[in-house]
Amino acid sequence: MTDKPVIVVLSPWYTVAMDELDQHFTVHKLYESKDPAALLASVRDTCVGIAGSKVCDAATMDALPNAKVIAHHGVGYDGVDVAAATARGIKVSNTPDVLSDEVADFAIALTLATLRRIPQADRYVREGRWEREGDMKFTDRMWGRKVGILGLGRIGIEIAHRFAAFKMDIAYHTRSKRDVPFTYYSSLLDMARAVDILVAIVPGGAGTKHLVNREVLDALGPNGVFVNVARGSVADEDALIAALKDGRLGAAGLDVFADEPRVPQALKDMTENVVLQPHQASATHDTRLAMGRLVMENLLLGIAGKPLITPVN
Ligand code: NDP
Repeated sequence: MTDKPVIVVLSPWYTVAMDELDQHFTVHKLYESKDPAALLASVRDTCVGIAGSKVCDAATMDALPNAKVIAHHGVGYDGVDVAAATARGIKVSNTPDVLSDEVADFAIALTLATLRRIPQADRYVREGRWEREGDMKFTDRMWGRKVGILGLGRIGIEIAHRFAAFKMDIAYHTRSKRDVPFTYYSSLLDMARAVDILVAIVPGGAGTKHLVNREVLDALGPNGVFVNVARGSVADEDALIAALKDGRLGAAGLDVFADEPRVPQALKDMTENVVLQPHQASATHDTRLAMGRLVMENLLLGIAGKPLITPVN
């Protein structure tokens, strides 16, 4: 069938969900192309939809001037030049809500893994150290401690509810106070001084760049724990490495990094107090299928000129 709308996929997501695109669209995968410029030129007139999970810049939009919609896979769309899309009359969508519970589960898991040193303990058993050296060093508790959540949006609120079940004392910092039973801090620094654990779940981009800086990390202190499930850009990675190295910060659990998938060797070398994850907070089969289907629905609607389910602009 040649009458299916033509779309260009810039970067991939869950294969099972991507395979479903073929039912509705003629799909061109730019990331698999040996000559992306030639591919873009070949669909310049026909392409009506763009989808992707990473970056979509103005140059790509200019190469596909008939695109009506950019369906982004992911709730964080800091890689998409939304202003450029809006200026060109292109609708942009993301995939909020369907991943909130998954990411919240993961934030709790990463916090627990960091405090209770679950990956380190797994290695301790595998490396035969339990038999040779006896019991492992004690770890730190999570329940009942003070946690500060940076960002209390769709995901942040789910994280807060889960922490509440662990009998934790919950604070949050956002720009605007919410009507919730948690302690609000208008200053991130003040919150960092008051809590044991800081969990970041704000969007990336210029507005949140390096919010978690040296001062904030020092305020968390030598027993403090920083967990980042937001974006690598939210924390000053150099300052984070320095704070961990100097013992000014106790531990970190990181799902996101400044230059993914490259992770600084210094972080990899810190095997005792740092838990590293490959940006996988939403990556379960069920949730990635739901995200992929939302991308597809938004593409169908955008191409048909109808309102998107989850519009960004
Ligand atoms: P929402 O837009 O629902 O929530 C964002 C929250 O951040 C709001 O509470 C907002 O409050 C706050 N916020 C925004 N800017 C600032 C700022 N400058 N200072 C303080 N607080 C701020 O987003 P979601 O909860 O759906 O998602 C949040 C982010 O999580 C995504 O954008 C994405 O980057 C990240 N994420 C990471 C995943 C992973 O795999 N690790 C998976 C999914 C999401 P206010 O506006 O009042 O400041």
